[in-house]
Amino acid sequence: MSNLNINVKKKTTYDAIVIGSGISGGWSAKELTDRGLKTLLLERGRDVKHIVDYPTATLQPWEFEHRNQLPLEVKKNNPIISKCYAFYEGTTHFFVKDAEHPYIQDKPFDWIRGYQVGGKSLMWARMTQRWSDHDFTGPARDGYAVDWPIRYEDLAPWYSHVEKFAGITGNRDGLDTLPDGEFLPAYELSCVEKYFKEQMAKHFPGRHVISGRTAHLSEPQAIHYKQGRGKCVNRTICERGCPYGGYFSSNASTIPWALKSGKLTLRPHSVVHSIIYDEQKGKATGVRVIDANTKEMMEFYAKIIFVNAAALNTNLILLNSTSNRFPNGLGNDSGVLGKYVAFHNYRARISAEYDGYLESRTEGRKPSSGYIPRFRNVYKQETDFLRGYASGFSASRGEVRSNEGLGTELKNNLHTAKWSSWRVGSGIMGETIPKESNQVTLDKDKKDDWGIPLLHIKVDYDDNDEKMVRDFLEQFSEMYTKAGFTNIRTSDSKQAAGLDIHEMGGVRMGHDPKTSMLNKWNQLHLCRNVFVTDGACMTSTSTQNPSLTYMAFSARAAQYAVKELKKRNL
Ligand SMILES: Cc1cc2nc3c(=O)[nH]c(=O)nc-3n(C[C@H](O)[C@H](O)[C@H](O)COP(=O)(O)OP(=O)(O)OC[C@H]3O[C@@H](n4cnc5c(N)ncnc54)[C@H](O)[C@@H]3O)c2cc1C
Ligand code: SF4
Repeated sequence: MSNLNINVKKKTTYDAIVIGSGISGGWSAKELTDRGLKTLLLERGRDVKHIVDYPTATLQPWEFEHRNQLPLEVKKNNPIISKCYAFYEGTTHFFVKDAEHPYIQDKPFDWIRGYQVGGKSLMWARMTQRWSDHDFTGPARDGYAVDWPIRYEDLAPWYSHVEKFAGITGNRDGLDTLPDGEFLPAYELSCVEKYFKEQMAKHFPGRHVISGRTAHLSEPQAIHYKQGRGKCVNRTICERGCPYGGYFSSNASTIPWALKSGKLTLRPHSVVHSIIYDEQKGKATGVRVIDANTKEMMEFYAKIIFVNAAALNTNLILLNSTSNRFPNGLGNDSGVLGKYVAFHNYRARISAEYDGYLESRTEGRKPSSGYIPRFRNVYKQETDFLRGYASGFSASRGEVRSNEGLGTELKNNLHTAKWSSWRVGSGIMGETIPKESNQVTLDKDKKDDWGIPLLHIKVDYDDNDEKMVRDFLEQFSEMYTKAGFTNIRTSDSKQAAGLDIHEMGGVRMGHDPKTSMLNKWNQLHLCRNVFVTDGACMTSTSTQNPSLTYMAFSARAAQYAVKELKKRNL
């Protein structure tokens, strides 16, 4: 009998376990298997195989039952997820529907999720800017949140490492607010985007318009062909899945790579319930998993565990990992776990028209437009709010057709397209300040279909964000006016937190175990063989889209974990 038990345990024992197969989990799995570790990748959702599981990738609008629009019924049943611009008939299969996985909004929070192999890497918008030292020193400078235990130079080589493999476009812009990387050729700015760049350089020194850096293969290199990926052909319907592997997703890149090593076991339909802590050994020994279909509870064991379930679910798993030693969640002596959650302020928008360059127009599509790195409060505190914002800038022209007239006149009008004036637009990407009161907790009674406590989310905008929205609209109105744009319209969507889809924190990094959960290697201060390298680890949020930074953290932590494992320190 005991032999039987030993055999079962052997079969369920790995060198490493990774929880979650999205952007960060894919990277953790790749880096661990690259270094020879037998790794189990646990994913709560179904498998999504590259190419074969992209059922809508090549459909034309008229091939959809509802012309690729969301039917009213779907909208009515999904008030939260329907707010996400990328949720439409062609992508519904990749998004979690509102009723499927409930959570409790102590304050309104639009939680946008993708539960499948690849996570949200399938549907993301692929904007990938590095952080700079200004971002990592932000909390130390103004005293809000704790000091990051690392600086830009600690992460720089890992940004390079992931950029080369993922394939990131960009120019070497030489800005200290947005460090350059290992770039594939950038997408060219349109003539009005270039015009705005020149206007900014003339009237607003220090405000730069660059080509947005993006995870697309504009010119694939040998390493990308080796992954089985090809050139991006600018279809810009990427969120349906790209049969060419033209953009970076875990499905096209890190997961097949790790599988090819022969070291990876991918287990879909595996809902991680909690992490097992062994008090005698003083470390985690494995995870409890509930099979999503059979609801059977099982255990898997490993020497190291990477938690990559996406920020809020990572909080949930750690809060649910209770033991005699850690009654409030794994590694949570400080009581910090679940607190200081932050996100990005995406509320303000501005649009306008431009009557110049009427001899030119845009042709075709491109997956990137202009990007304006943060220029507020960088070198000194100059406003009545903390931190700052970045923004996009896009300028394009579209065809307009008149539907006036009857009979032949109507037909002719419909057949004769005219070009609109240039339409320009920008949206705020603001940093929010992590606050103790922005917190996630577990419900004491209510459980989901797998017996896991429901997550309470109490996260909100604050006065700092209101001031930032006003400043963005004022500054951009001034910038647009100076550039000669007309018909300027501003709006504040007042959208709830969450719709930015950049939720972060709750398991933050820091020097001190009394005020943070993770050390500089993304290791739990109090349980050293557990690593958190998704958005939960973020001490502050900066303004840049965060996923490139999660990738760099995952790769850096994985190489450290393997080194420590070899030294028998874990
Ligand atoms: C429409 C859209 C546009 C976006 N645009 C950008 C952008 O331009 N740039 C950018 O940087 N970011 C963008 N994002 C955000 C980006 O997708 C996320 O930051 C990124 O995917 C986070 O990576 P992750 O590994 O933490 O989580 P995910 O990619 O969400 O993966 C987490 C995985 O964990 C699994 N999981 C969760 N709980 C469990 C459990 N208990 N057991 C087992 N598995 C579990 C999930 O099913 C999921 O597969 C966008 C997101 C969306 C939806
Ligand atoms: S734009 Fe590029 S990455 Fe996106 S679907 Fe098209 S080819 Fe694929």
